[in-house]
Amino acid sequence: SDIGSQKDRVVTEEEWLQRWEMSNIGFHKEQGHPLLRKYLDVLLNGRSGLRIFFPLCGKAVEMKWLADMGHSVVGVEVSEQALKQFFAQHSLPYCEEPVPEISGAKKLQSTSGNISLYCCSIYDLSSSIVGKFDGVWDRGALVAVNPCDRQHYVSLMITLMEKNSSYLLVTVSYDPNKHKGPPFYVPESEIKSLFG
Ligand code: SAH
Repeated sequence: SDIGSQKDRVVTEEEWLQRWEMSNIGFHKEQGHPLLRKYLDVLLNGRSGLRIFFPLCGKAVEMKWLADMGHSVVGVEVSEQALKQFFAQHSLPYCEEPVPEISGAKKLQSTSGNISLYCCSIYDLSSSIVGKFDGVWDRGALVAVNPCDRQHYVSLMITLMEKNSSYLLVTVSYDPNKHKGPPFYVPESEIKSLFG
């Protein structure tokens, strides 16, 4: 791959938690992502009542959009603060419960039931815990994964997808030798080899 000096860089979970702690979250898009609006039809493909997965969800407002359209949304995020801000900022009541299969993990679920956010590492999830999905919105997720964990991440995502699911992926194109990120640069050739 041509990701140059980025390939050995690692951002730890602790560093992500600190970013949330310091409100150093320039990646958060208050107004939602224009590319989801643009490609919504591709994601939904005429289907309704889908299960949509948000890996590394942060407090992405797109989760609210899709839930309001009648889909059911599942997200995963290491920062509990992020998830609590999500529910607070949308005035959504929620309840919290442990996840028996994952020690230390919590599930925060909207009282209406259609938004379930797991507070744990994505690498702790499996389809036996969260089921499979009809659609994935991957923005700030694959590109935030440490380069050494990409294959693990993608293999896991594939196991979480239903047969006819659609996967919208946002990456950022730039010269990785000039900028260290964030997010990480993921060349198109690597996306092809990762997803096959
Ligand atoms: N997708 C969101 C957030 C992108 S930033 C958006 O579009 O706004 C990446 C997020 O992933 C951060 O909030 C970080 O706390 C979270 N994160 C990093 N590593 C993770 C992991 N292994 N499992 C779950 N969440 C993780």
